[in-house]
Amino acid sequence: MDREEFLDRIEQSEMILVGLGEEFDGTKRLKRRAEYGRGCKCLEEKGLSWLLPAWNEYCLEQAQDSGIGTALEKLGGFLKGKNHFVVSVSTNRKIALVGRNVMPCGSVLRKQCSAGCVLQDITEEDREGMRNFFREAAQGRPQSEAVSLGICPECGAPLVLNNIYTENYNENGYLDQWKLYMKWLQGTLNHRLLVLELGVGMRFPTVIRWPFEKTAFFNQKAYFCRVNENLYQLTKELAGKGCGISEDAVAWLAQL
Ligand SMILES: [Zn+2]
Repeated sequence: MDREEFLDRIEQSEMILVGLGEEFDGTKRLKRRAEYGRGCKCLEEKGLSWLLPAWNEYCLEQAQDSGIGTALEKLGGFLKGKNHFVVSVSTNRKIALVGRNVMPCGSVLRKQCSAGCVLQDITEEDREGMRNFFREAAQGRPQSEAVSLGICPECGAPLVLNNIYTENYNENGYLDQWKLYMKWLQGTLNHRLLVLELGVGMRFPTVIRWPFEKTAFFNQKAYFCRVNENLYQLTKELAGKGCGISEDAVAWLAQL
C-alpha cells in the first residue's frame, strides 16, 4: 500500500483503530549494541526488570536513533482530526503523545508501590536518578541501591515503575482508559473502520492481534491493515477485507 492509497484509506474511514506493538520499544533496533544487551541482563539479574522500558528509551537516546519518534509523529499527523483510538503493548512514553490511547503494559510515566498499592506520577528527580543509574550501568558498574523512586506512603515498600515488567503490576494505571476504549470499540460496529496493526508480535496476542482480527471480522465496513516484518499474514476470515505488509512497521510509517 503506497502513501496515496494509505491516505485514501484514512480519508474514507470514519473511525481508526491503531495497535502499536513491541517494535516501538526499540529492542530490535538496539539488539546489535553490546552494552544494551549487557544492561538488560544486569537489570534482570538484579531484580530490576521494571527499569527495562526506561533502559530502552535511554539507549535509543544515546544511539541517537530517532526512527521511532519520527514514525510516531507521522502517525499522530495522520490521526489528527480523525476519530481514533490507539492501543499499545509497547511501553514507549512517546506513544502517550500520539492521540487518544491506552497502554495496558504501562510505561515509564508512572511509579507504583512494589507491593502493588500506590500509584504516582514520575518526577523530574526520578528521571534524573534513573539517567545517572543508566550512565553507570552502561559503563559496567551499576549500583542497584543508587536507583530509588522513593518509598510507598502506605506500606513503606520501595516504589518501582508502573509497567508489566514489575512483579506486582498495578493495573489501575490504565484501567480507566481501557474502559473508555471498550466503549469506543462498541461504537465502531456500523461505521467505516480502518484497523491498523503496526509491529505487533505474539507476546501479548490477547491485547491487540486477536481482538483486532475479531473486530475487523464482525464489522462489515472494516478494512484491516497489518504491517509486520515476519508475522504479516492475514487469517482466512479476513481475506478480501485487508492487507498484510511485510515490512518493519517503524520504517514503513517513517517513509509514508
Ligand atoms: Zn505500598
